[in-house]
Amino acid sequence: RNVGMDICSGGIIGMGESMEQRIEFAFTLRELEVQSIPINLLSPIPGTPLEQQAPLSEEEILTTIALFRFINPTAFLRFAGGRSQLSKEAVKQALHIGINSAIVGDLLTTLGSKVSEDKMLIEDAGYRFCGSQFDREHLWHPYTSTTNPLPVYKVKRAEGATITLESGETLVEGMSSWWCAVHGYNHPILNRAAEEQLGKMSHVMFGGLTHDPAIELGQLLLPLVPPSMQKIFYADSGSVAVEVALKMAVQYWYGKGKAKKNNFVTIRSGYHGDTWNAMSVCDPVTGMHSLFGASLPMRYFVPQPRSRFHGEWDERDTVELRKLVEEHHEELAALILEPVVQGAGGMWFYHPQYLREAAQICKEHGLLLIFDEIATGFGRTGKLFAWEHAGVEPDIMCIGKAITGGYMTLSAVLTTNEVADTISNHTPEVFMHGPTFMGNPLACAVACASVKLLTSPEYDWQGKVNRISQQLLEELEPARRLPQVTDVRVLGAIGVIETQEPVDMAWMQKRFVEEGIWVRPFGRLVYLMPPFIIEPQQLTKLTGGLMKIIRMC
Ligand SMILES: *Cc1c(COP(=O)(O)O)cnc(C)c1O
Repeated sequence: RNVGMDICSGGIIGMGESMEQRIEFAFTLRELEVQSIPINLLSPIPGTPLEQQAPLSEEEILTTIALFRFINPTAFLRFAGGRSQLSKEAVKQALHIGINSAIVGDLLTTLGSKVSEDKMLIEDAGYRFCGSQFDREHLWHPYTSTTNPLPVYKVKRAEGATITLESGETLVEGMSSWWCAVHGYNHPILNRAAEEQLGKMSHVMFGGLTHDPAIELGQLLLPLVPPSMQKIFYADSGSVAVEVALKMAVQYWYGKGKAKKNNFVTIRSGYHGDTWNAMSVCDPVTGMHSLFGASLPMRYFVPQPRSRFHGEWDERDTVELRKLVEEHHEELAALILEPVVQGAGGMWFYHPQYLREAAQICKEHGLLLIFDEIATGFGRTGKLFAWEHAGVEPDIMCIGKAITGGYMTLSAVLTTNEVADTISNHTPEVFMHGPTFMGNPLACAVACASVKLLTSPEYDWQGKVNRISQQLLEELEPARRLPQVTDVRVLGAIGVIETQEPVDMAWMQKRFVEEGIWVRPFGRLVYLMPPFIIEPQQLTKLTGGLMKIIRMC
């Protein structure tokens, strides 16, 4: 207080009256680990009205920013009052002195929202930041910090295989909104299905009631999934489907009088969702199990199969699984895994023989086999469902993501008569799960339209996926020769480039946007899974942009 600095909860107001003072404060603030730092762009002369205070020089601003970086490299910077005097050059310089991109993004958002004419400046400086201030201050995005969020881009509309940002750029969509939007956006057939259903009812409870969309969807799904899958449980999302599947397995063994069989084994590098039990079977490292510690149930993990999908089968791949199951089968209800393609846990394609061997091991030792086909389902891997690559039928199967063509959230858990009957014929004689929005008619109606479209002969999903696959192979192959790339792999409509070093996501995403493509890398993985309806020249734009930016890494 006595040196012209107030410290309020986690932040400070004012930064001293001279640059010398500011430098002195920096050391104090560093010790206090402040999280939020307002930048006053005016020379603080006590007792002078705001309008009469002189603006800081650019040099002073940049020194201040550099100081803040010293205080806390990830602190949340805000402009405190006054109008920005930051010129284009100053922003460039700020970037140059190596303030991390999130901080500059932060600076620029504040600038952008306060001073609209500076928008040009922001764009010129290479920061076409188009998120909104409210979003930044109040909305939490996936896997993101609120104090140091990655930039988000505001979308105005989406059509076919493109996303149009509020800033006017149209991006070619390389992610299908995380595996979902297989038919692209704003599809007239899916739109119509939603509109027609809206006119009847958007929702009724599924307890004691049923309806055509749920029945029709079941009728459409059964011929597409393994023949042994005869019972369908609708759920709200992929993660919930995984919870339901795990509960089913436990309740099955309970019904069999083997209540001790209530744990799970899975393979490393898997991803099964973010809810509690789903998380417990995600890869322990990427799923950050250490963070949740003892509150997370302990599962058994075996190594990820190393035999590649297109490579030779190596028998050693199942040694650990066999050993573990032999030792622990009395406490194991099921093996859960993503067949053939491990998605968010590592974008890894493994040999289908693994599934055959794993199924055999499960059978020998009384474990159920759960396939999580939430990402792999509906044609993405070149088969309608990935189990077909191996011809192995699971006891329980989860589907989701592309089921509604990316229109809304819906998932389903499928199982055999044996599992369903065992649960139903033993106390408590019911399956203990029933979400509020179970079998949501609106979601089911759109899912029906999506599945019908996908499987109609004119649509020729297989032709579409094969063409994408071929093009991805040809156009990503040259990346293999880049020193910064360790692997290139393609399966179905999925193309993956694995880099030597983890990529700077914020940097790379911004570059991709400048190239007119929407690609969201993570870790050492830069990958494409475009909508099936993408045009060849749109796909070339995606692969071309990807190659260009990866060369710059
Ligand atoms: C995305 C995903 C989930 C979780 O689905 P949500 O709808 O995000 O809850 C589960 N398993 C796999 C394989 C997935 O890709």
